[in-house]
Amino acid sequence: MTEVTCKTLDGGAIALDADALAGLRAQIRGSVCLLGDADYDKSRTIWNAMIDRKPAFVVRAAGAADVVAAVKFARAHQLLLAVRGGGHNIAGNAVCEGGMLLDLSGLKSVRIDPAGRTARVEPGATLNDFEREAQAFGLTTPTGINSTTGMAGLTLGGGFGWLSRRFGLTIDNLLSVDIVTADGELRRASAEHNPDLFWAVRGGGGNFGVVTSFKYRLHAVGPMVFAGLIVYPYAQAKEILRGYRDCVARAPEELSCWTVMRKAPPLPFIPAEHHGTEVLVLALCYSGALEEAAAVVEPLRSLGPKIAEMLAPMPFAGWQTAFDPLLTPGARNYWKSHNFTALSDAAIDVAVDYVSRLPSPECEVFMANLGGAVNRVPVDATAYPHRNVEFVMNVHTRWRDAAQDDQCIGWAREMFDAMAPHATGAVYVNFMPSDEAQRVRAGAYGPNYDRLAELKAKYDPQNLFRLNQNVAP
Ligand SMILES: Cc1cc2nc3c(=O)[nH]c(=O)nc-3n(C[C@H](O)[C@H](O)[C@H](O)COP(=O)(O)OP(=O)(O)OC[C@H]3O[C@@H](n4cnc5c(N)ncnc54)[C@H](O)[C@@H]3O)c2cc1C
Repeated sequence: MTEVTCKTLDGGAIALDADALAGLRAQIRGSVCLLGDADYDKSRTIWNAMIDRKPAFVVRAAGAADVVAAVKFARAHQLLLAVRGGGHNIAGNAVCEGGMLLDLSGLKSVRIDPAGRTARVEPGATLNDFEREAQAFGLTTPTGINSTTGMAGLTLGGGFGWLSRRFGLTIDNLLSVDIVTADGELRRASAEHNPDLFWAVRGGGGNFGVVTSFKYRLHAVGPMVFAGLIVYPYAQAKEILRGYRDCVARAPEELSCWTVMRKAPPLPFIPAEHHGTEVLVLALCYSGALEEAAAVVEPLRSLGPKIAEMLAPMPFAGWQTAFDPLLTPGARNYWKSHNFTALSDAAIDVAVDYVSRLPSPECEVFMANLGGAVNRVPVDATAYPHRNVEFVMNVHTRWRDAAQDDQCIGWAREMFDAMAPHATGAVYVNFMPSDEAQRVRAGAYGPNYDRLAELKAKYDPQNLFRLNQNVAP
């Protein structure tokens, strides 16, 4: 008797009877859930509330052996397969409609080796799970800026945050992965083992298999860093951004300063009359010697009259959670992103103009500053190719009411188009929404696309792992 009908890779569907699912259950230490089961909704609910998909069934993996069994099952029955790590990706590929969902979010182990300065991290760990354990030893590696993001998806796309100018991307600090490839084999990929596969997973996203363990190189950081926010009036945003651009060009690599343009949230250190009005925020983290911090950040504090500032020595793991309250799950979100080798005056003018017309109170435009160690890695050293980028803009549209979808998405696309003449045309794969498949080749991978496609043909000729920013075999 049919227990569940599941979509297949060829666009059809297959009836899976109770015996088939019982056979799968017998091999799984975790669980297999169907619609109505306790954990089914937990697995299918992700950060972006625009994504509301119902898989035919969910495998909640408890370890690498479960992943092997699940991948073999999907392959044997030719099932449409989605893979979920932290569930943060804007495009929503972590969940599929009517297919099989392999949920790794229960795999959260983080093991730090303080002597070897390495970390072993399972694919359901969030940045916070990792940071708390690593910082217990005064160690870390560069990740992103929102602590509820998954280590898995972030790493597989590249990964950058407050420490990237100093230590490179997350993948530049990746030493090896354990990965289940489409043939169901559990392999090691590193500089010594399957180096071509190791090259591909450092930026190639979920295209090459399911990673069951990541091993990172760690660096001594903190536990205290000098960090915080400087809030400038929006009326001066253009001049401040020009000054900011010049400051960060001269800043040491221990300093990372990103900008956020948005309506001021009601934070206690911002005077109430500014709450809900546009502001330009500089968010910074200095991970060098604390006694040098004040002098290093001074140029960024004196770009003009300020509305407010909150700068202090604080635990790095705490600073990593600073943006969490603004980026909680459950809102509707749509992103558009550009890379820049330089921020021209014209680009600044366009950005400031668009942010003065935000379509909803929670929208924001982030500008990350990269360069430094990220750009000292050759373009062809990893699948991630963007080694000339100084700034990454993310138009982060966020709202609550589905009736506002068209207005908010329309505004983001318009701003993106207006910024395009000033940008490189390339894009960070982890910031791409679901409707940008046409940007994967030239935008996300550029000179590295052909090699990725060859390796996809070698490791996943059937394109079993297709629910991602897909590289066709
Ligand atoms: C609020 C917010 C802030 C962010 N800030 C940053 C930032 O500062 N820096 C940055 O670099 N990025 C940032 N990102 C982007 C982030 O890197 C991506 O969204 C990333 O894909 C999230 O990984 P995840 O595991 O949570 O996502 P998921 O949605 O679970 O996974 C994304 C995709 O990765 C693949 N995948 C996941 N796990 C595995 C696995 N174990 N094996 C194989 N494939 C897998 C799948 O194809 C899946 O569809 C941010 C995202 C959000 C929502």
